[in-house]
Amino acid sequence: MNDEKVKGRVQDPKERVTNFNEVELGFNDEEALKEANRCLQCANPRCMKGCPVNIAIPEFIKCIKEGNLEGAYEVISRSSSLPAVCGRVCPQEKQCEKMCVKGVKGDAISIGSLERYVADQAIANNYSVGELAPKNGKKVAIVGAGPAGLTCAGDLAKAGYSVTIFEVLQKAGGVLTYGIPEFRLPKSIVDHEVEGLKKLGVNIYTDVPVGNAITIPELQKQFDAIFVGSGAGLPKFMGIEGEDANGVFSANEILTRINLMGAYKDKSKTPIKKAKKAYIIGGGNVAMDAVRCLKRLGIETHLMYRRSEEELPARKMEVEHAKEEGIIFDLLTNPVKILTNENNDVVGMEVVNMVLGEAGEDGRRSVKEDESSRHTVECDMVVMALGTSPNHEALKNSDIVLTEKGLISVEGTKTSLDNVYAGGDAVTGAATVILAMEAGKKAAKEIIDVLL
Ligand SMILES: Cc1cc2nc3c(=O)[nH]c(=O)nc-3n(C[C@H](O)[C@H](O)[C@H](O)COP(=O)(O)OP(=O)(O)OC[C@H]3O[C@@H](n4cnc5c(N)ncnc54)[C@H](O)[C@@H]3O)c2cc1C
Ligand code: SF4
Repeated sequence: MNDEKVKGRVQDPKERVTNFNEVELGFNDEEALKEANRCLQCANPRCMKGCPVNIAIPEFIKCIKEGNLEGAYEVISRSSSLPAVCGRVCPQEKQCEKMCVKGVKGDAISIGSLERYVADQAIANNYSVGELAPKNGKKVAIVGAGPAGLTCAGDLAKAGYSVTIFEVLQKAGGVLTYGIPEFRLPKSIVDHEVEGLKKLGVNIYTDVPVGNAITIPELQKQFDAIFVGSGAGLPKFMGIEGEDANGVFSANEILTRINLMGAYKDKSKTPIKKAKKAYIIGGGNVAMDAVRCLKRLGIETHLMYRRSEEELPARKMEVEHAKEEGIIFDLLTNPVKILTNENNDVVGMEVVNMVLGEAGEDGRRSVKEDESSRHTVECDMVVMALGTSPNHEALKNSDIVLTEKGLISVEGTKTSLDNVYAGGDAVTGAATVILAMEAGKKAAKEIIDVLL
């Protein structure tokens, strides 16, 4: 019997480098049913152990097999409040699909694509889930409208709390809105999730920098509890000579300009530098998103990473997509100096080849420079995608305790301040959407337990 996994359709690489439309096109009805039918409905489903929010995976797949898509959505929604997002951007290959028993001798079930299929059907057909509890008179403030804050808000609103979100940017969604590009996560999907929250009665105030416009101590006086989900949006740089030159950007800035402010659109008020040749430094999802965005703007794009392809932290699928799109990978190479002209514009980089050493305690191989290999490359744009850390503007004028690494210190999700909870990247450092959602859910539960 042919038991091959059903491959989802994707936009042709030649076509897609000329637009920002979604790359993955998702399953149609026939494909979803065929893939669902591959699931063995295991009595002891290993896949669920790989899911950070413990979605009842065989149960929702069974509903697809039976043609009960509303039921499938209800099952997923019990555990996840952003399934159309997670179905698209969760690293399933390291989570549920990695654990799926079918993967032992063949192809794991495409759980992520099935989740996305169900969630897209729910959006198209306006499925709704769950009853709202009556209002209980308690008020909760949420700082930051990323996946952690949105999830916490949704769970509290459903439980009868009056919830107000304060977001510094002009749009809600956090990284889902300003970081992950349209071609991986259409903004209409994020907008739909945000609209769903508003329908639950959640108030969302944008353009409010907590810490400046209003402080945590002030919020403590006005609300019964506060959840801080302010993320980790502060970019890291290398600290090398020339990094202050014109034409050096953080990936966050490039992505924010493109995704949030639409710099890729004609007549954008915040256009992006029309570079000829750009080097993106880094190898994670952020680097991959930045390099693929710039390619779509017609720039010759190189991804420079100091380790080899095997160590690239980005999702395999993103690496494959980037290669198909013509991104040039300069591996085992690192910049040591950015070269500039008399106007301080970038004209190139001095780079060095890297040599891999033994794996350290964390399992990652060490790297060292091969000094004799120093050479120069020409370019007029350099984008640093080296990771991010939390920006704690929101915590100004509060004496909240931080960890040695500068993250918000929590027990469970409770911070050192009265009635103040926190979760997501602000607590863990840069992580994933599903982990941020899980933290938002946990905090909502702890707030409910304490306030009731
Ligand atoms: C480019 C990029 C690609 C990624 N790709 C993936 C992926 O494919 N899969 C995946 O699982 N994860 C991915 N991630 C990681 C994932 O998006 C994050 O782990 C997740 O968004 C963290 O959620 P959060 O709610 O904690 O923070 P965020 O999403 O960062 O949201 C925090 C929100 O708080 C707001 N805020 C900050 N300070 C204040 C303040 N003072 N006042 C008011 N509001 C404030 C911010 O503006 C933001 O909207 C990616 C990250 C980036 C940057
Ligand atoms: S482990 Fe795989 S085959 Fe078994 S129930 Fe989960 S998805 Fe289906």
